[in-house]
Amino acid sequence: MAIKNGILNDVTFREARHIGERIVPELVVVHDTASRIENGKAADYLRDNAAKVSVHFVIEMDGTIEQQVPVDRRANHAGKSHYHGRSGCNHFSIGIELVNPGKLQAYGNSDQGVAWWGERFPAASGLIDAETQEHGAGRWMQYPSAQIAALIELLQTLFAQVPSLKDIRTHWYISPGRKIDTNPLFPLSHIRSLILGRDDPDDMADALSDEVSPGETVVINTHGDTLNMRRWPSFNPNVVGKIPDETILPVLRRGRFGHRDWLLVVYGGQEGWIVAAYADPVEENAAGFAMGVPEVQL
Ligand SMILES: [Zn+2]
Repeated sequence: MAIKNGILNDVTFREARHIGERIVPELVVVHDTASRIENGKAADYLRDNAAKVSVHFVIEMDGTIEQQVPVDRRANHAGKSHYHGRSGCNHFSIGIELVNPGKLQAYGNSDQGVAWWGERFPAASGLIDAETQEHGAGRWMQYPSAQIAALIELLQTLFAQVPSLKDIRTHWYISPGRKIDTNPLFPLSHIRSLILGRDDPDDMADALSDEVSPGETVVINTHGDTLNMRRWPSFNPNVVGKIPDETILPVLRRGRFGHRDWLLVVYGGQEGWIVAAYADPVEENAAGFAMGVPEVQL
């Protein structure tokens, strides 16, 4: 596939009604349509609607791709959103909608799923129950392999020919608490490592940090507040636990990310990252008990 004047040469282009100003895209945002799944239904709506929404690409469940906005023009796909401290992701992102019914409810005690508009889907359409912190509990439809293959081919084309692109995220990541697309079955880490050539940020953090000496512990020092423990060392929506003040924790790794020192610690049976400034070293006292020394920097 080649891109000329922001338009891919070998997919259908039907111009959206709502096309904004010129942009330099740095991010790809992947969405679900949360809509009926027949070919063309979601694409027709996205192309022309009174709600002023639009998107660059729609990928049907059979892998058919339609482009509706040139990649260097703004589409209205993300709404209120932020990415690494910047708000309004429409101004620097390309949106891709995957046709998918979104969150389904269980139909009674059956293995069928009911969509928000009342349509019922059989288990054979690829339904799986899953729950995550970002999505809550639900019944979800798997993305067909043809649809994922089309997405990967499109991403490879975009990242090869749009040099300003740097990252791939989902709508729930840039609009946490407000949006849950893509669904929990979306193979995000696989696609990120395939296209970006690196793994999930938590794996990356491991690779970029250093092991500490065995037995190193710290005591949380937050003057009474709890401290967020995070899946990887950044302030993105990735909190996996809240650690009470004065808790003593084993430290596994130490690294510097985003101009801050971070520690990988173990709390509540899981590993997570905390900002090192809120943890003080612990030294063993004469009796051999670990003692917090929050007022003294060793
Ligand atoms: Zn979305």
